[in-house]
Amino acid sequence: MHNRRNVVEIVSTHIVREGGGFRVRRPYRMGRVMSPFLLIDEMGPVDYGPGEALGAPWHPHRGFETVTYLLDGRMRHEDSAGNSGELNPGDVQWMTAGRGIIHCEEPHEDFLKTGGRTHGFQIWVNLPAAHKMMDPRYQEVPSSASPTVEKNGVWARVIAGECMGVTSSIDTVIPITLIHVKMESGSRLIQSFEPQLNGMIYMFGGEVNISDELRVNSQSRIPGLGTRQVIRDGELALLSEGNEIVIECNSSSEFLILAGPELNEPIARHGPFVMNTREEIIQAFTDYQNGTFAN
Ligand code: FE
Repeated sequence: MHNRRNVVEIVSTHIVREGGGFRVRRPYRMGRVMSPFLLIDEMGPVDYGPGEALGAPWHPHRGFETVTYLLDGRMRHEDSAGNSGELNPGDVQWMTAGRGIIHCEEPHEDFLKTGGRTHGFQIWVNLPAAHKMMDPRYQEVPSSASPTVEKNGVWARVIAGECMGVTSSIDTVIPITLIHVKMESGSRLIQSFEPQLNGMIYMFGGEVNISDELRVNSQSRIPGLGTRQVIRDGELALLSEGNEIVIECNSSSEFLILAGPELNEPIARHGPFVMNTREEIIQAFTDYQNGTFAN
């Protein structure tokens, strides 16, 4: 039995400055509405001249995971645990901050010199209360080792979860789907979902139509949405429950498919810390000031 997912709400995006001042596009509404994701930031696209590229200097995180996926540009990272590395187009860094990590995310020095285009994503994945203070860990998947699949005009990189029979190697704390999809005009993707997970689509190029063959040219059953089942560039679409979605494309399009469980826990957030209570946030600041944060 296929229970089709539909769009139940469209969240539009706006452009803000983050970190050292770099441009990000993010949904207007965040937090519980897109559980378990706390933040979906599209970095750029922005074209830097020589010496202009920006990053995020040293800062801490506690209580969640940061996923960085680069489409264009070249970044360098370093952290308090002694890890360092670089990110190039197609590379994924899945960092579980857990009880604490202090890191910097900057343009690579060669890229800073030459300038060029930076585009990518940073997504914050919340951790359930029971795992917020877990040991920090890194998973890095270079573009060359990242599972991709292409069928009938649909290309996908499977960062987490499964798409068109291809599965990611990333080990996630809670079940997460994160897929980068490009569709050619006239193509169609049937994506399955675990029915208990929240599902959403973030569109960053072109537009798609969500098909529900059970809804025969009729009014949408969803109050406030009219008959609209179109997702356009710069929109986050929140999806109904169901075990699959049918995505159709009349022009080329590019988007992320995201899914994860409803955590149903209080969110206490201050800057780079995301915990469940105010006391835990104060503790994070105290630990950071005492220098016991990332030991
Ligand atoms: Fe960070």
